[in-house]
Amino acid sequence: MVSDTTATTVSDPVAATVSGARSVAATVTDPELPMLTLDELGVLRSVDEGDDGRVVVSITPTYTGCPAMDAMRDDLEHALRDAGYADVEIRTVLAPAWSSDWISESGRRRLAEAGIAPPGSARRRRTGPVPLTLGPTVSRVACPRCGSADTEEVSRFSATACKALRRCRSCAEPFEHVKEI
Ligand SMILES: [Zn+2]
Repeated sequence: MVSDTTATTVSDPVAATVSGARSVAATVTDPELPMLTLDELGVLRSVDEGDDGRVVVSITPTYTGCPAMDAMRDDLEHALRDAGYADVEIRTVLAPAWSSDWISESGRRRLAEAGIAPPGSARRRRTGPVPLTLGPTVSRVACPRCGSADTEEVSRFSATACKALRRCRSCAEPFEHVKEI
């Protein structure tokens, strides 16, 4: 009996699925920072496959209440479904909280290439449940265009909540900066 439900043609589905689902999920990009994959952003925490062939993807949201979360979930689900994984569950993992430190090196490079200043180190890491903000957290953000450190923050928020708008005093160009968190 030939079943016609095969979206994928793998001889060893179990072995192929684990790495396959992971690599499919790793190609999904962030809705607000489309030059980055969710993997590079550090949002993609794990991709597991149950015995029943079900794929469980765990993601950690970047900024609390980030409106892009729903889009991320949809994009992951669609990418995996399109790749033949019919049973997909997206889990949101809130602890430990996402940190901009989780953005990978390649992710930082891609941001800079897109003219967006990557976040610096989120040093004052939380020791309690509530991150404490004691004032300007960013002392020095280099201009992604000319490299000058002589930049100023114009607005705490730009097109998206996760980015601030800055201006370079050297080349006078405005640029976005992914905030440390
Ligand atoms: Zn500049």
